[in-house]
Amino acid sequence: MKFRFCFFVVTLVFLTSCANVRNPVTGQYERTVMDERSELQAGQKAHQDVLKEYRALENPSLQDYVNSVGQKLAKASHRGTLEWHFTVLDSPEVNAFALPGGYVYITRGILAYLDDEAELAGVLGHEIGHVTARHASQRATRQQAAGVGVLLANVLGAVLESKGYGGAGDLTNQVSQITAAGYIASYSREQESQADQLGAEYLTRNHYDSACMIDVIRMLKNQEQFAADTARSEGRIPPPRTDWLASHPSNDKRLEDIRQTALLHQEPKAENGRERYLKAIDGIPFGESREEGVIRGQQFFHEPMGFALTAPTGWRIKNTSEALIMTNGAADAALIMRTVPADAGATHADILRTIFNPINGRTAQATINGFAATTFVGTARVKEGGQDVLQQVDVTLLTGPEKHTYLFLHVAKSADALRRERETLLAAEKTFRAISDKDRSLARPWKIRLAAFPQGGFAQLVKRSATTLPHPEAQLRLMNGAYPDGVVKAGTKVKIVE
Ligand SMILES: [Zn+2]
Repeated sequence: MKFRFCFFVVTLVFLTSCANVRNPVTGQYERTVMDERSELQAGQKAHQDVLKEYRALENPSLQDYVNSVGQKLAKASHRGTLEWHFTVLDSPEVNAFALPGGYVYITRGILAYLDDEAELAGVLGHEIGHVTARHASQRATRQQAAGVGVLLANVLGAVLESKGYGGAGDLTNQVSQITAAGYIASYSREQESQADQLGAEYLTRNHYDSACMIDVIRMLKNQEQFAADTARSEGRIPPPRTDWLASHPSNDKRLEDIRQTALLHQEPKAENGRERYLKAIDGIPFGESREEGVIRGQQFFHEPMGFALTAPTGWRIKNTSEALIMTNGAADAALIMRTVPADAGATHADILRTIFNPINGRTAQATINGFAATTFVGTARVKEGGQDVLQQVDVTLLTGPEKHTYLFLHVAKSADALRRERETLLAAEKTFRAISDKDRSLARPWKIRLAAFPQGGFAQLVKRSATTLPHPEAQLRLMNGAYPDGVVKAGTKVKIVE
């Protein structure tokens, strides 16, 4: 949760004419709605949106390092003359993506799981491959042909669309949209496969072992496995695949495909740059950052905004860039907390009018741990697809520390579920409080640190890690390429979470 309400305007790029552009990878001319100039323009514009949505990580030496690895790969790619930009985003998500025109992003979340520079190069090489092979432009062209004509909406994917706050919208749907907000709309299976192959090729051209692409894909596969395993151990349904994973073909299939190519490109004097890589990521945040707010067990702490919340027992907390979502065990009801922009109104009544345009209903005032709150249950008139739609809403507005106002949406899959869970939703909301000193000490963000792997194995390594880390052994194994049961030699430099 960024606590910045983003009204994202998806820029419509109307491209009226088609051009023939030579594809740098295949050398073939292809009919496209996006010539190189419009590709660059689209990239530049979308880059600003990405930086508004995700902050760049404030770590100049790591940014320089990732940029130098990326530039080296890009210079030796099929579009070496393009001006390339590589940015590490301050996001715990495991993600990497590219925009048309040479903008490549990698999250600090994925960096925690890569083992060396060659694997970093593998991820960057894959994304460079999407750009050099003009995949986004091809997709835009296909969509244009299908009469959609919205380029950036496609490039920026579901996140931007789920910003459609213009009223309550379909609230139930919002939960699933927010939860499923992957960044990049999907490329085709063939495009992903081609990006893997190009990535492997760019690795070889730079004297990395292209078999590192295999390690990267295996790491992604392990991420899925870890998510499924932890869900099961907590009695939850394994989560739907999100982020990078959802947009890519089955990692088993990718492993198979790339194994063949990677062998073709084997590099005898390959260098993996493990020392350099580990040194570069030593000390970066792990998990959510202080600025986004952190989850510790059933608690959520947002230090900069000065508040804390506790989820009911058995509920899950998910912190996305748009909202904080607490979901019940049955996953049929949720409390969604979002920030309200200062210009939405001076009073709760004004804000309700601005956002929901209510036509009937009742409001009730309350004080929650010293903060003024207003609950509204009634019918709102919201815009949907240019039309007024009537919508039942059940919400609380609360003005917390520093006069920031928050919106709590009480949502459920059915009216029955809402009736059943409403008291619990309200109870969760009532745990909103000013952050205490005790909360603050629990809210300390985690960092990645390096350590020599102990004789006592992972069980001993766990003792050196933060006690608040969930599933610590599995997590440390995952970070060090030994999930679920790999072995690491004692004395090897490994990552820990402090
Ligand atoms: Zn891809």
